Amino acid sequence: MELACLDLEGVLIPEIWINFAEKTGIDELKATTRDIPDYDVLMKQRLRILDEHKLGYQEIQEVIASLSPLEGAVEFVDWLREHFQVIILSDTFYEFSQPLMRQLGFPTLFCHRLEIDENGRVADYKLRQKDPKRESVKAFHSLNYRVIAAGDSYNDTTMLSEADQGILFKAPQNVIDEFPQFPAVFTYEELKQEFIKASNRELSI
Ligand SMILES: [Mg+2]
Repeated sequence: MELACLDLEGVLIPEIWINFAEKTGIDELKATTRDIPDYDVLMKQRLRILDEHKLGYQEIQEVIASLSPLEGAVEFVDWLREHFQVIILSDTFYEFSQPLMRQLGFPTLFCHRLEIDENGRVADYKLRQKDPKRESVKAFHSLNYRVIAAGDSYNDTTMLSEADQGILFKAPQNVIDEFPQFPAVFTYEELKQEFIKASNRELSI
């Protein structure tokens, strides 16, 4: 049995925080782990900024609902789900990604959770576990699934290493250079071909 595991942001949808910052015009929200490597510090800053701008759960959902999946993503996910059980492994939050997941037809998503208080304010966040993408692939292996995984960035590389076959999709050049063991592709058509190659079954397009 084979599972396809996909990263979400940068693979099927745009980077949520960056697009959220652009839509709302709040430049401070563009900071990523490249600017603030400590994720906890970064998330605390993001929540403080949301508070300062009075952006609660409702407002966040409205902004994100105006974003779209990457061009071709919906068709790619449809194709993949015909041939594999598909699970999306992401470091996003359910509350953030929901409007975009709706546009993708709600494929299975394992990610983190925001805590929303009774006034609709984002009070805190809960990370499900440490290194969740790798831990998920390990768990699927314990269930006797073979795993083919695709992602675009550093936070995917432990998942790609743990998988039976890892694939880099739309990755920046520094990630491609640092992880030459993974094939690197840039279009959904090429990604389909990599899944077909990596599968131990005869798949047709
Ligand atoms: Mg990504």
